[in-house]
Amino acid sequence: MPLPPDGDPGTPAPHATRGPALTPLAGGTEGPRQLRPLLDTVLEALATGATARGGPIPAGGPEAVGHRLRVAAEPLIPEAGIGPHAALRAVVGALAEGAADPADPLCAAHLHCPPLAVATAADLAASALNPSMDSWDQAPAASVLEDLVSRGLATEVYPEGPAPDALVTTGGTESNQLAVLIARELAKDRGPLQIVCGANAHHSVRRAAWLLGLPEPVVLPTPAGVLSPAGLDQALTDVRGPLLAVATAGTTDTGEIDPLPQLADVCAAHATRLHVDAAYGAPLLFSRTLAGRLDGLSRADSVTLDLHKLGWQPVPAGLLAVPDTTALETLGHREDYLNPPDDTEAGFPDLLGRSIRTTRRPDVVKVAVTLRALGRTGLAELVEHTCAAAQRLADLVDAHPAFDAYERPTLSTVLFRPAGATDEHVGAVRRALMTEGRAVLGRARATDHRDGIEKLWLKATVLNPHTRPADLEALLEIVEGSAAK
Ligand SMILES: *Cc1c(COP(=O)(O)O)cnc(C)c1O
Repeated sequence: MPLPPDGDPGTPAPHATRGPALTPLAGGTEGPRQLRPLLDTVLEALATGATARGGPIPAGGPEAVGHRLRVAAEPLIPEAGIGPHAALRAVVGALAEGAADPADPLCAAHLHCPPLAVATAADLAASALNPSMDSWDQAPAASVLEDLVSRGLATEVYPEGPAPDALVTTGGTESNQLAVLIARELAKDRGPLQIVCGANAHHSVRRAAWLLGLPEPVVLPTPAGVLSPAGLDQALTDVRGPLLAVATAGTTDTGEIDPLPQLADVCAAHATRLHVDAAYGAPLLFSRTLAGRLDGLSRADSVTLDLHKLGWQPVPAGLLAVPDTTALETLGHREDYLNPPDDTEAGFPDLLGRSIRTTRRPDVVKVAVTLRALGRTGLAELVEHTCAAAQRLADLVDAHPAFDAYERPTLSTVLFRPAGATDEHVGAVRRALMTEGRAVLGRARATDHRDGIEKLWLKATVLNPHTRPADLEALLEIVEGSAAK
């Protein structure tokens, strides 16, 4: 069968939409040659879409975006296919035009990072090769790479071991679930596990308790923004049964870091297991100047990392690190078709117990390429630039009479609000900026330390390492203009 030309095959006749020549595969020796023209079309559509959007988010709100997408993607299953280039142009183009693009410095609502080009390129290889991480015979090389990345990153968290290891997850949510699951299994002879966490903990901690059939967590108030060691000490004294304390290194709302050394002391005094959710803050470990803010992290029994935040990876790129790989044994599982004991005895790695998922993408490919490409220094620079941009934004807010600032940023989150505004007005300003396509900011409730009143704030989560001072000035100008309306 002849191969199709590398150019646009146009709209094929209905009878010609089947067959190997018109449905080329991504793998093998021919795959790359087949992919190249399709990638040209994808890249063109990404550029055209971004230009058409012309800002951080499409103007017009849900209705305008919905209309464009329906035009681009319907009928979803035409009787005769429209062909790969036309489909890519229409769908990818509309997706890019309708995207909230974190590569735009004015898109700063969430822990939603602009992925690095190198990581995105590496992710293409993961798609083309499509290893599945549930058995060695689907992922011979990828399983080695996963082992290197898991142990390598776990060693960053636990340099003293004894045998650092990590599970690869879809993000902080799954990492927190696994941390709770491991704690539940380790405690199962002593009764139902009781989680104790701060009100500043990520919502996935409470959901994990619900999912895993555990009692509702004891949630300690955090009016100061962080978990109080004295409060935790009291709770660990009062609450009965096997306990898991959960602290946060980089809260989702404010980026604050719980006092880890003191919390670890409290947990040690009560012989209580400690999980630290460092989904946001963990990459500070790469920076010599910032790593000190994570002192005490290595005293946790498990740590959540999320490299699709301050790690600039395409989603997903989560990890759950433990100091000793034996803590992961509780996830062990056998299925004869995936990890039969005789294969394991013959020296084939048993991967099934590395996740509660079965078919699983090799998300470590992009991570390994990024770590090698940038090195510790390159990553540290990105983390430091991002945190410095947040400090700069806080300076601008502090100096601006039209705004009130929350605290100085710990990581890269800056909370501010129009001076004297009501919560309703803050909410409306955020929606207006979004609908007009001018800026994407988040929102968070936090106590104003000046008057002790909990308020709604605008939240700028700076995650773009290329943000310049002029972008931050433009952001404040846009918000000021909108707030004055
Ligand atoms: C983002 C976040 C999570 C959840 O991570 P996902 O990758 O969205 O699942 C958990 N904890 C904290 C502190 C986070 O900021």
